[in-house]
Amino acid sequence: MADVRFQQVSKTYPPRPSAGRQQTGVSVLQNLDLSIDDGEFLVLVGPSGCGKSTLLRLLAGLEQPSAGEIFVGGRPVSRLRPSARDVAMVFQSYALYPHLSVADNISFGLRRSTPRGPVAQLQDSLHRLSRPLPAALQLQSPREQRIEQRIAEVAASLELEALLSRRPKELSGGQKQRVALGRAIARQPAVFLMDEPLSNLDAKLRTGTRAQIVALQRRLGTTTLYVTHDQVEAMTMGHRIAVLNAGRLQQLGTPMELYQWPANLFVAQFIGSPPMNLLPVTLRSQGQIQLGEHRFVPEGASAEALNQWRGPAELMAGLRPEHLRLAPATNRNLSAEICHVEALGNEQLLTCRLHDGSHLVQVRCDPQRSLQPGETVHLAVEPQGWRFFDGHGDALPRPRGANTGETGGPSLPPLSADK
Ligand code: ADP
Ligand code: MG
Repeated sequence: MADVRFQQVSKTYPPRPSAGRQQTGVSVLQNLDLSIDDGEFLVLVGPSGCGKSTLLRLLAGLEQPSAGEIFVGGRPVSRLRPSARDVAMVFQSYALYPHLSVADNISFGLRRSTPRGPVAQLQDSLHRLSRPLPAALQLQSPREQRIEQRIAEVAASLELEALLSRRPKELSGGQKQRVALGRAIARQPAVFLMDEPLSNLDAKLRTGTRAQIVALQRRLGTTTLYVTHDQVEAMTMGHRIAVLNAGRLQQLGTPMELYQWPANLFVAQFIGSPPMNLLPVTLRSQGQIQLGEHRFVPEGASAEALNQWRGPAELMAGLRPEHLRLAPATNRNLSAEICHVEALGNEQLLTCRLHDGSHLVQVRCDPQRSLQPGETVHLAVEPQGWRFFDGHGDALPRPRGANTGETGGPSLPPLSADK
């Protein structure tokens, strides 16, 4: 068990040889500070190419940082070989050895991890070679016995017992991914690194394997860094989410913190599907904001943030789709034309164009309502739902102790694994 710390880590890939001499390298991470608690499941998200895999590969030892240091359990690891780092990585592509059986894939890291003398190596080989013989003729090596026991334990925990003698090409995608997980857990590493491990699985299998990974991580308590681009995985699997963009950490917090109080416009648009609606507003006196012809009085922590704001009056306002609702035609409500209707079964998602300023907004509503594109609707705003961002895209600072409507709790909520 160990905590993980990235301290001022930068990574620049050298320019490709074909790119010519004057070409500079690709700067992927810049002065990244990130700490992961012992036993924590941290989900790492960000757009494609933002450096998520690079971050994992730096920790695994598959890449060297250009600057900074990485600590595992307080120990600097950037000069250690990958096998000496006590981390295990699971890849999107499974990366199983095609010529080895499931059992040998699972035990691969175990066999490599401790150096042996020539006698021990011979003893281990004889143990393995004599396995097909009758029990009386089998030669025993204590080390191989321990490995076999570990394979059996891992196979039982991932329901792989019946597949142990198969080769990877005889497995389905989901089975391959369970073998890859088995290989990672067999060594009982201090840290698991998982790089989009479920993205090659179909939706149903993904849901099942997702629950299995969460249950496994909670049971083993192994510090885990998990990369995904899936909103549901990001929101449900981890204790905290780290959002990365262009090599910089945008925000680190619990899923609900990020959803409810995004630190900037990037996070507001990246977390949540559909994303937060954005509308330019002007701050007026007495805590009022103006959107086109309409004035609103926000409530809650955002209202307190507005009251303390001394910067420019032009702000960007954010509203989640569930903070707009269809309402009667009054002059307080926003009128809009429906552009697009998506019926999702449990809800309907409307895309509407506000008559004030022609801004597009998305609204969640009751699936029973019969609504057509071209219809005019009226939208009421939940006064607690407003969020505000300054000209740089940063959220207005919330006053300390403001009632944020969040339910507090320990920093590692015991996420239920059996969903
Ligand atoms: P992500 O996993 O977030 O999609 P990556 O960490 O794989 O992003 O890549 C980040 C950036 O670094 C991309 O622009 C990618 O093209 C570049 N990159 C990744 N690996 C290498 C490499 N070995 N050499 C040069 N550039 C690389
Ligand atoms: Mg990647």
